[in-house]
Amino acid sequence: MKNGQTALTSENTVQQALAKGTCPICALVRAYQNEAIERLNSSGMKSVCNYHAWSIAAWSPGAGVINVFLQMLEHPLGSEGDVSDVWLSCDVCALLREHERTRLEEFARELQRKNFREWVERYGTVCRIHARPLMAMLPESEAAMIASVIARNTDELKESLEAFLLSLSEGKHGGGSILGKAAEFLVAQRGLTR
Ligand SMILES: [Zn+2]
Ligand SMILES: [Zn+2]
Repeated sequence: MKNGQTALTSENTVQQALAKGTCPICALVRAYQNEAIERLNSSGMKSVCNYHAWSIAAWSPGAGVINVFLQMLEHPLGSEGDVSDVWLSCDVCALLREHERTRLEEFARELQRKNFREWVERYGTVCRIHARPLMAMLPESEAAMIASVIARNTDELKESLEAFLLSLSEGKHGGGSILGKAAEFLVAQRGLTR
């Protein structure tokens, strides 16, 4: 399972990452995150956040992980302010912010193409975390289109969650994948936001 649930890599374009029910920015930044963690041994990372400390502890055995943890152990336990400065700065998160920015700019550019725009308008999903910075990059009419995509996504998710609730009350337990979709839509994919 190289890139989580998907076969995408960070070499793919936003166009290639379009899929019903998932945010393409999330899918690509997540693929990039997985690759960054796999490259850890040669990355020279010095500090990671809670989520990424556990990710590298679980995923990436080898000198890279040990070196990151050894470097973090050198940080002094200072005043409250110092501690949060040290522990909240994360080299993986910083890389993700940068990649996310590049992908949002690519998405905004692609919206100039009619086919791309029409597909997004009709079938696309953009999570609530990525919708805001995306809309801030767009001219008013395209920002309004993304707002209508979010409204459609919200209605679809509510409907699916309510149907799931109903099927649970009838003793059926299938269909849990909707919960992952709801989590992504609300807070973006795992590990992408702090
Ligand atoms: Zn997203
Ligand atoms: Zn992090």
